[in-house]
Amino acid sequence: AEVVGGGDKEVVKDYFNNSGFQRWKKIYGETDDVNRVQKDIRLGHSKTVENAIKMLTDESPIRGVTVCDAGCGTGSLSIPLAKEGAIVLASDISAAMVAEAEKQAKEQLLAGKDGLSPAPVMPKFEVSDLESLEGKYHTVVCLDVLIHYPQSKADGMIAHLASLAEKRLILSFAPKTFYYDLLKRVGELFPGPSKATRAYLHSEADVERALQKVGWKIRKRGLITTQFYFAKLVEAVPA
Ligand code: SAM
Repeated sequence: AEVVGGGDKEVVKDYFNNSGFQRWKKIYGETDDVNRVQKDIRLGHSKTVENAIKMLTDESPIRGVTVCDAGCGTGSLSIPLAKEGAIVLASDISAAMVAEAEKQAKEQLLAGKDGLSPAPVMPKFEVSDLESLEGKYHTVVCLDVLIHYPQSKADGMIAHLASLAEKRLILSFAPKTFYYDLLKRVGELFPGPSKATRAYLHSEADVERALQKVGWKIRKRGLITTQFYFAKLVEAVPA
């Protein structure tokens, strides 16, 4: 049953342009002004990014490969991929996030920086919700975005992402199996009403079904857990 209804996207966009932007910029950054939980989430997320990069570069080099990073946030994945030579479209529904990602990319990817040679191609930055993205990319990646949408919306998002991808789609989501565990841990920390936005967990079977419906199959699976962060990472390919 849907609680928020069709307003999910507007609520999420508003959140990530305001308080959510401040919160996640901090978590995804490197400064020390994070609490214990945020620090743990930072660690979990960095493992997800690391594992996604491993999936992306394991079997063949990423240099020259087109990658669409849907819901790029502050560029945690887009920037290292550009460093590796990928041709990246970094897009996000939040203009604040995209501006921050672009700023960090300029700082980190400037020609000659860290002796990067050849100089990486700057990602192309775009403010867009993933449902409005067009075009074709060798690879589409969407990390930790589905958590903001119920499965009823996630199905359509997954179908659209698959339609943009020629060879593979990499997704991460918070798995439903850890729901009670997570609630318990969060409950211990925040006895009062939670300040965070609504989080939706997805079962792996539901995600797999959504992929199958559009002719895709899961080829690789990974699980990332820390104390407060849980993510399933899947790589899907045309069946
Ligand atoms: N993928 C990034 C990462 O892993 O570092 C950011 C993850 S952050 C938890 C979720 C991001 O998804 C936010 O930047 C938010 O603005 C973006 N987002 C949420 N809904 C979206 C949508 N419908 N289309 C595109 N981006 C969306």
